Amino acid sequence: MSTAFYTHAECRLHDMGAGHPECPQRLDAISDQLLSSGLDMALLHRDAPLATLEQIERAHTAHYVLQLKDFLEQVQESGEPRHLDMDTVACPGTWRAALRSAGAAIAATEAVFRGDVVNAFCAVRPPGHHATRDETMGFCFFNNVAIGARHALDVLGCERVAIIDFDVHHGNGTEDIIAGDDRILMASFFQHPLYPNSGAVPMGTNMVNVPIPPYTRGMEIREIIDAMWMPRLEEFRPEMVFISAGFDAHREDDLGQLGLVEADYEWITRRLKGLADRHSKGRIVSVLEGGYALSALARSVVAHVRVLADV
Ligand SMILES: [Zn+2]
Repeated sequence: MSTAFYTHAECRLHDMGAGHPECPQRLDAISDQLLSSGLDMALLHRDAPLATLEQIERAHTAHYVLQLKDFLEQVQESGEPRHLDMDTVACPGTWRAALRSAGAAIAATEAVFRGDVVNAFCAVRPPGHHATRDETMGFCFFNNVAIGARHALDVLGCERVAIIDFDVHHGNGTEDIIAGDDRILMASFFQHPLYPNSGAVPMGTNMVNVPIPPYTRGMEIREIIDAMWMPRLEEFRPEMVFISAGFDAHREDDLGQLGLVEADYEWITRRLKGLADRHSKGRIVSVLEGGYALSALARSVVAHVRVLADV
C-alpha cells in the first residue's frame, strides 16, 4: 500500500451552523463512499497530528497566528460561535480542527518526502486556500497547502514544489502567500467571475492562473490543462506536487457553475500523477478544499484517490 489517508475526528467538531455548506457531513460522506467502494482497504489510515505555531508561521504572519489563536481559544472557552468574516464562523471546535488540518498537510508532506508512502490525501476541514497571510476568508483559517509546501522547502530542503489548485474558486490566499516565491509554481483554474473575484491578473510570474467562464465542461477544461498548465509544470520539474483538491467544480455543485464529473477528476489526477512520476518520485500531497454537493464530493474524492492509490 502506497497511499496514506490522513484525517482526524476533531476535524468534524468544527461546525459553522445549520445550513452552512462547509459542514462536518462532508467528511462523513467521503468516509462512507470510501467504505462502500472498497477503496478504504487500499489506504494506510493515519490520524492527523496538531500543527505547531512555528509550522503555521511559515505561511502566515506571527501576528495573525497569535491573534487567531487568542480568538479561537476564547470561542472554545465561551462555547459560543462567533463570526470572523461574512462567511467564516468560529465555533468551540474550530481551533483544534484548524490545527489538525494544517497538521495533516505537514505530516503527509513528511511521510511522502521520506518515502514511507508514495502519496497522501488529507480529508480535513476547515479548508485553507482562501486564507491569506493575515486574514481568514471564505471558510478558511490556516492555508494548509501553503503550510505543507513551505515545510517541504524550508524544513525538508526541497528546492522546487508545485501547487495545483482545481477548486472552482480562485485560491487567492495561496496566491497571496506564495506569489513571488519562485521555489513554488502554482497552477490553477477557477470559474471567473465567481467568489472571490480575484486571480484574473496573476500577482507573480510563478502563478499560472486560468480564469474559466461559467458552464465550461470537462473536455474543454482538459484541453486548457494540457495547453496552459502542463508545459509550465514539466519545465519547472517540481520535487513534490501539492494539490488543493476542491471538488466544487463538479456539475452537481451549486456553489459554482462548471461542469466537471468524476471522470474529469480521474483524468486530472492521472495527468498530475504522470508529472509527479516523471519529476518527483511520484510524491503527491493532496489536501481537501471545497466540494459541497455531498454525493458528488464523495464520488469525486474516490475517483481522485483511486488514481493516487493506483487501484
Ligand atoms: Zn471552492
